[in-house]
Amino acid sequence: MPGPGGGGPRGQHYMTEEEKAQRPKVTGALLLRIFSYLKPYWKQFLLVLISIFVSSVFSLYPSILTGRIIDEGLIGRDLKKLIMLIILSLGVTLGANLIGVLESYLNTWIAQHIIYDMRNAMYLHLQKMSQSFFTSNNQGDIITRMTSDIDGVRSIIANTLTSILSNSVTLIVAMAAMFQKNWILALLGIVIVPLFTIPTRNAGKTRWSLTREAQECSDEINGILNETLSVSGQLLVKLFGREDAEYERYEKVNRKMIGLNIRESMAGRWFRVVISTVSSIGPMLLYLVGGILMMKYDSDLTVGDITVLVALLGKMYMPVNQLLNIQVDWIRSMANFTRIFEYYDMPVAIADKENALVPETANGDIEFKHVGFAYDEGKQILKDINFTLESGHSIAIVGPSGSGKSTIVNLIPRLYDVKEGSVTFDGNDVRDLKLSFLRAHVGVVSQETYLFNGTIRDNLLYAKPDATEAELLDACGRANILEFIEKQEKGLDTLVGNRGLKLSGGEKQRISIARVLLKDPTILIFDEATSALDSISEKKIQEAIDPLVEERTSILIAHRLSTILAADEILVVKDGEIVERGTHEKLVDAGGVYTELYETQFKKGIVKTGEK
Ligand code: ADP
Repeated sequence: MPGPGGGGPRGQHYMTEEEKAQRPKVTGALLLRIFSYLKPYWKQFLLVLISIFVSSVFSLYPSILTGRIIDEGLIGRDLKKLIMLIILSLGVTLGANLIGVLESYLNTWIAQHIIYDMRNAMYLHLQKMSQSFFTSNNQGDIITRMTSDIDGVRSIIANTLTSILSNSVTLIVAMAAMFQKNWILALLGIVIVPLFTIPTRNAGKTRWSLTREAQECSDEINGILNETLSVSGQLLVKLFGREDAEYERYEKVNRKMIGLNIRESMAGRWFRVVISTVSSIGPMLLYLVGGILMMKYDSDLTVGDITVLVALLGKMYMPVNQLLNIQVDWIRSMANFTRIFEYYDMPVAIADKENALVPETANGDIEFKHVGFAYDEGKQILKDINFTLESGHSIAIVGPSGSGKSTIVNLIPRLYDVKEGSVTFDGNDVRDLKLSFLRAHVGVVSQETYLFNGTIRDNLLYAKPDATEAELLDACGRANILEFIEKQEKGLDTLVGNRGLKLSGGEKQRISIARVLLKDPTILIFDEATSALDSISEKKIQEAIDPLVEERTSILIAHRLSTILAADEILVVKDGEIVERGTHEKLVDAGGVYTELYETQFKKGIVKTGEK
């Protein structure tokens, strides 16, 4: 559920209970920080301030001129003056509108540049966050902060800030002009305006609650569509014959939505009736009191004066209404800023040290010394892990699921940092090496292959953007996927589909092996898929992996005997500890964890491959 401003309809003048509860604390430091984003654009902002001031004054001026048009032009029967005043009035209106255009352009320009700066800074910052940030934060939440929250910031700069300024200027100028004409009527105006904006607030409230209900309904509809019209959702619906039930569910919410929409638009209709009735009472009151003053008390009020006062009164409703409502926009925007700053302030957990090392050569010797690790405080995952992997050799890590195998290998490219002990690369602690160096030398083929929507070529070039056609084909050949690619009509330009869904698991894995080969890392980490592949795919992957292991320093998280046999040494991990180590022959006879794994898991693999 998105937070304040995240999903709620913006521009509504009432806060949800959730927003009220999460009302941010506005401190001087927060305001200062917000205004620091305006700083690079202070010149443009100054221009905005000036144009707001000028256009607000200009837009009131025609109302003041009306008095002279009536008194001097019409009642005074002076045609020349009348024409002059009319031209002046039109000219000022045109001027106000032109300045208004300039103002909105500058406004949008500043707001867009600020969110451009903020989005870039946020993207850079998020890319530096460690893997644990992405595993523990909801992806939707991250995206909401990047999009709607930052958009809320645009709204406060482009709308809220300028609205406060222009409305205040309009009110002050209108009030001053009214007092100058007649203080009694001006005072009457000051009482009338806020009094008659209150009912519109209540009418708005009803509408708001309907809008919210409609919003929830629409969320529900989106949820159903997302669930049932997605690839895997549709598969489930079809296979379980749930089409009718899903249709009924959809139809029900859809009907509810229609009812709400009709009520909402009618509430809007009543809302307009209230507004137009109420705002016509004010001028009538002014006419009445003005007339009484003029007729009974011999005041020096003219017809023109009263017309001016009524016109000015009409100009005050909107600003008062908007200023009364601005508080909500303001609080919402502050909440957006707070949420954005929360992300900015998250420390970068895994970063280069100041004098990070960039050795000239890399051998690929890895050593784990008394390594301890925990994802969450107090829940130890790895305990006292010790092993060395010499350049050119290979190690297989085996163990029950959840024992910590992936965690061990994730420490090498520093997806996470050790809590105790150290991991060294060619004798240097990985935390002392430059991250870009370290990651360039460590290649990982993970269990879950991630291919993005594009062609096979695009996915391969991700590892080496300047690879030649020959290099691409060579990598595919070595990954045992070339034959498959050549069979495709479009070859390397075949689309892989959403997340590679158009390919089989085995094909995806072999493409990701080709991808890592293009990267040509010093150390290869291969996290073998646990999910069963058919024996042909398995054999193809095996044929791709075997020579790689021979020629390259590698760590294999293995689930199949053939992979295990390819390694020089086997580490058996259980509950985060290395409980046995050695060669297959030695371990299989030892009668420990390995023997059990062999009997229950690996042996089946032999039977399977044997069947082929
Ligand atoms: P294996 O690769 O042997 O199946 P893992 O290294 O993936 O095991 O996981 C070891 C333990 O760490 C498991 O108990 C798992 O629940 C936990 N774990 C894995 N990843 C995370 C994470 N990002 N946050 C918290 N706990 C995790």
